[in-house]
Amino acid sequence: MNDIAANLAKIHDRINKACQKSGRNPEEVRLIAVSKVKPAKLVEEAFCSGQKLFGESYVQEFRDKEPLVESPLQWHFIGGLQSNKVKYLRGKVTMIHSVDRLSLAEEIDHQWGKIDGIAKILLQVNVGDESSKSGCTPEDLESLVRQVSQLPNLKVCGLMCLPPHSDDPEQVRPFFRQLRELSKQIERLQLPGVEMGELSMGMSGDFAVAVEEGATLVRVGTAIFGARMKKG
Ligand SMILES: *Cc1c(COP(=O)(O)O)cnc(C)c1O
Repeated sequence: MNDIAANLAKIHDRINKACQKSGRNPEEVRLIAVSKVKPAKLVEEAFCSGQKLFGESYVQEFRDKEPLVESPLQWHFIGGLQSNKVKYLRGKVTMIHSVDRLSLAEEIDHQWGKIDGIAKILLQVNVGDESSKSGCTPEDLESLVRQVSQLPNLKVCGLMCLPPHSDDPEQVRPFFRQLRELSKQIERLQLPGVEMGELSMGMSGDFAVAVEEGATLVRVGTAIFGARMKKG
């Protein structure tokens, strides 16, 4: 087995174990292979090993890479997003994880309206309350959901977080728990057009803990493709 196939197998194994431990069905958890900074060739290699869903964080890089990939895979956009770049994602990604403000949601709605589509989005919450990170505050989440849910060409499918980094995944667990709690609170409001089925949380260092806490989408890069050279 090549490295990527072996890494994917190990990750699925750990996801299955985390599901067993927490009494969840592994079919509720989807693995996103985060291919940022990695060439199209490696994306194809992962696809050949059975990986169908990929995540990208930088619009320009996605624009360059997407046409080079021929396999019929799905892309999610997971990185920080400026409104003026949404047009480059239109119709090309099946979900945007990083919506944290109304103006961005409005632009996504506008762009997907042009193709008569419905954009699936997640609302990113800054659970660690870190000034350096994007995401709406937990306090602002309800009002953001209410406003965004009025837009006709998008659908709120759940929440996403990027908690403070720690080498010890147990330190991150409370943030995952907080996102799940927020998701339940929003669900109880029973807002029309709002679903809270997806919880996008967990990366290479902590995805097993995130799965134990209810993640339905884990975003894993390094553990699949190896270390990245730092960008910028
Ligand atoms: C890069 C990135 C990941 C993957 O991180 P790894 O530690 O390499 O698994 C996950 N989520 C987001 C938003 C990212 O930008």
